[in-house]
Amino acid sequence: MTIYIDTQNELHVEFQGIALTCPHCQTLTHLSPVAVPRFEDLNTRRPKHAGIGFRCDACGEPVFLKFAIRSFNPARIELSGNYIEVERARETFPLTYLPEEAESLFKEALSCYAAACFNAFGSMSRRTAQSLFRELGERGKLELFDTLQEIRELAALDDETFGIMRAVLFGSDSDPWPNQPSLNAERAGVLLEVMRDLLYQTFVRKARLLQAMTFRKFVVPSTSEASA
Ligand SMILES: [Zn+2]
Repeated sequence: MTIYIDTQNELHVEFQGIALTCPHCQTLTHLSPVAVPRFEDLNTRRPKHAGIGFRCDACGEPVFLKFAIRSFNPARIELSGNYIEVERARETFPLTYLPEEAESLFKEALSCYAAACFNAFGSMSRRTAQSLFRELGERGKLELFDTLQEIRELAALDDETFGIMRAVLFGSDSDPWPNQPSLNAERAGVLLEVMRDLLYQTFVRKARLLQAMTFRKFVVPSTSEASA
């Protein structure tokens, strides 16, 4: 993706433009630039980064992105396509079904992810898993591992990615250093989906089923009552 600012202070983005999940309305949307730094200023001061204010095309709220500057030349200032989201969309997840300790740990994990602190997200995900192992016992741990295997097959995770997920969640803090694999944005994104599914399968699905069954018991009269 080529992005540059021309001498008229206009931002040019090739191909599809910039699309991301808006931190305000959580919609995957395009952004329109509303505050672009002046070409002259950038060219005089030569900073390493340029910050640009956008408007979310869906909700109109402001979204700020920071770009590394690739090069300066008389006609344009080229920016890197890998921007930094100053404020990221928060992940929503029905946390209330989780055991209390796991809930508070995973909440922090999600905050780390939203702040783009991907290794911190990995560490907090491991602590969440450790809390669950304690809560669910050895059998529960094995079931969680089976669920991870299922996710591997369903999501067609390659061996390397699966190995990383397994090491993050099922590795031990006493393993030889480094006892946790390093996570970049892509791996953290996969881990987030794995955690989401793992927790959903283990707690949310069960809790919702139980809730629905209890509800049914109350609303549907049993045959004996109905015939009585
Ligand atoms: Zn929005």
